[in-house]
Amino acid sequence: MKVLVVNAGSSSIKYQVMDMTDEKVLAKGLVDRVGIPGTTLKHEPNGKDDVLIKKDLPDHTAGMKLVLDVLVNPEYGCIKSMDEIGAVGHRVVHGGEDFAESVVIDDKVKKVIRDCFDVAPLHNPPNLMGIEACEELMPNVNHVAVFDTAFHQTMSPANFMYALPYDVYEKFKVRRYGFHGTSHYYVSHRASEMLGKAYEDCKIITLHLGNGASMAAISGGKVVDTSMGFTPLEGLVMGTRSGDIDPAVVFFLMEKLNMDANEANSYFNKKSGLLGLSGVSNDLRDVIEAADAGNERAILALEVYYNKVKGYIGNYIAKLNGCDCLVFTAGVGENGIETRENICKDLEALGIKIDPVKNKVRGKETDISTDDSKVKIFLIPTNEELVIARDTLRLSK
Ligand code: ADP
Repeated sequence: MKVLVVNAGSSSIKYQVMDMTDEKVLAKGLVDRVGIPGTTLKHEPNGKDDVLIKKDLPDHTAGMKLVLDVLVNPEYGCIKSMDEIGAVGHRVVHGGEDFAESVVIDDKVKKVIRDCFDVAPLHNPPNLMGIEACEELMPNVNHVAVFDTAFHQTMSPANFMYALPYDVYEKFKVRRYGFHGTSHYYVSHRASEMLGKAYEDCKIITLHLGNGASMAAISGGKVVDTSMGFTPLEGLVMGTRSGDIDPAVVFFLMEKLNMDANEANSYFNKKSGLLGLSGVSNDLRDVIEAADAGNERAILALEVYYNKVKGYIGNYIAKLNGCDCLVFTAGVGENGIETRENICKDLEALGIKIDPVKNKVRGKETDISTDDSKVKIFLIPTNEELVIARDTLRLSK
């Protein structure tokens, strides 16, 4: 079966077609600036030249329609007709407490996705738009939702509850959910294979370091803890998100800067993190470059970033009572040689020793720890699309 994987954002649609007989990617692409003037579609068919199409599109349905036209194009398409697509897998950010696994989408599932608009206002609405656009254009195939929160539903209340009055959990479901679950799931399974141990017997700490960043502690095949919480704002320092802070800072700054709740939300999500602290950029490469050129605030921003990750490593080793391996993944984790080295520096007391020579690598699945490192350190490129396609196939047979 061939599976189409769709990841619809507020103004973008990422897609990938995979032949599940050998899990080969036949084509992938990105529609950017959907609903904004200057829409582009970049299509990358396997074994053929990339294609760039410029065409203004009003909405996600028009965006998906263009994707489907491109997929069957005789010149640069990857299938002869849409009948070849057996099912569609959709990335959905928030599934609340209802979904610990992927599901075939029906009206009830769509209601839950809609009910989560409140807690994932930037992600769930476009995710649902993508689903509805595909349903309209491909009414006769299975559509499957794969949730970013699902893997973390294995967390116990001891780790997902906040110390707030209990009724806000009962009334509003205020609790920790965690995100990037599909990525943590994929790289932790690959790590158990690299360790040569059954997944359930491994203690793994995964570091998904991208523009958004989160870590997870995994043991017995379950997530013990993860750094993002009720929303993706909690945890590590990110491109534009503050990560953990004293919540009193929020009330204090709302008053001092005369911000309402919406403005405060945007302040901590979009103006903080590496961008806010360094004043340079949300892109770690730019911050490193500025730090190398002597920019003091960029140097400080990097130190705060590294310290936060180190703190979570210590926290998670304590929670797991040991650790077989650390796994670096996503944009920074896969490419940031210097970042990985700085994070792992001075952690020998925890049995973590990075090999500076093996570490000089980008985007390749490999072991970057010294031979005598008690905790192995792996670089594993993430592959969320593959997890989505596999779940979609499994639920569509
Ligand atoms: P997201 O999916 O959250 O948007 P990605 O996983 O694509 O993010 O990661 C983007 C981040 O990866 C950017 O902040 C970028 O600076 C970082 N990155 C890419 N290459 C490098 C590198 N060589 N060194 C450090 N960071 C890098």
